[in-house]
Amino acid sequence: RTPILVAKNLSRHYKVARGFLKGMATVKALNDVSFELYAGKTLAVVGESGCGKSTLARQLTLIEEPSSGHLTIDEIDIATAGKSALKFLRPKVQMVFQNPFASLNPRKTIGDMLSEPLLLNTELNAEERKTRVHEMLKTVGLRPEHYHRYPHMFSGGQRQRVAIARAMMLQPAVLVADEPTSALDVSIQAQILNLFMDLQEQLGTAYVFVSHNLAVVEHVADDVMVMYFGSTVEYGPKQIIFEAPLHPYTRALMSATPAIRAENRREKIKLVGELPSPINPPAGCTFHTRCPYASEQCKSEVPQLRMYSSRMIACHRLEEIESVA
Ligand code: SF4
Ligand code: MG
Repeated sequence: RTPILVAKNLSRHYKVARGFLKGMATVKALNDVSFELYAGKTLAVVGESGCGKSTLARQLTLIEEPSSGHLTIDEIDIATAGKSALKFLRPKVQMVFQNPFASLNPRKTIGDMLSEPLLLNTELNAEERKTRVHEMLKTVGLRPEHYHRYPHMFSGGQRQRVAIARAMMLQPAVLVADEPTSALDVSIQAQILNLFMDLQEQLGTAYVFVSHNLAVVEHVADDVMVMYFGSTVEYGPKQIIFEAPLHPYTRALMSATPAIRAENRREKIKLVGELPSPINPPAGCTFHTRCPYASEQCKSEVPQLRMYSSRMIACHRLEEIESVA
């Protein structure tokens, strides 16, 4: 079995001015992120806003180029792919955004919106396109009469169904979903999550599910990657991460989510303070300014990702932490 998507040491660094006559600073929005994604599986990327989740989503959907590292889709390395290979690869990764209203053109009918990717990327004629759109409306739980309607005539949940349908029109191998339920009413969220899961089962699409909501993540993920300040701090199978979270940041996020099983088993960690400034990041472990276990070593040495207790994790003090947790 080969993964459909491989990220290897993906980084996105850029220079910004520190302020008048203060020179330039390098912002490490994404730092050495690696993972593998298989057909029909879901990787959930978790963290607070500003942790690098959205930067990662932009790399995966080829909206932005990484400053270093490699992204391989369907065994083709994006960095060395020619124009025609890129044209073939682009439709393979589609995106669903947080706000379904902002992502839909208010002046187009649902039918036109869903036909458009077919018009641009396939040889199908008008009749065939219409048939495909009607099949997709059914697949995402919408009705034939919705074909001629405009986005404003739909509820939030229906609009997200339309956005999902549009992303699915070209049968992508990978769907990147950025907080796709967080703008919806709680009562609707479960329906949309179930739609994602049904589609995955039917079509074998791989998902990268970006979310700060751990209850959602526990529901949908196969693997979980926790990010802090552009770097992976803990990455592994969902069961491992949820049953025995080890990184202090992962545990802090879980402590803040009442619906999570693991919080009963482990000492709570309360997350204090804000994310540090990306222009002036802390030395050593970037989490040391908020970590209750921080030692002198943490303030100067960057912890490397390593395999520990069936997951990848970056922390100097795991042995000590595990013994008190
Ligand atoms: Fe906390 Fe140190 Fe581990 Fe960073 S390396 S998470 S500061 S204990
Ligand atoms: Mg699944």
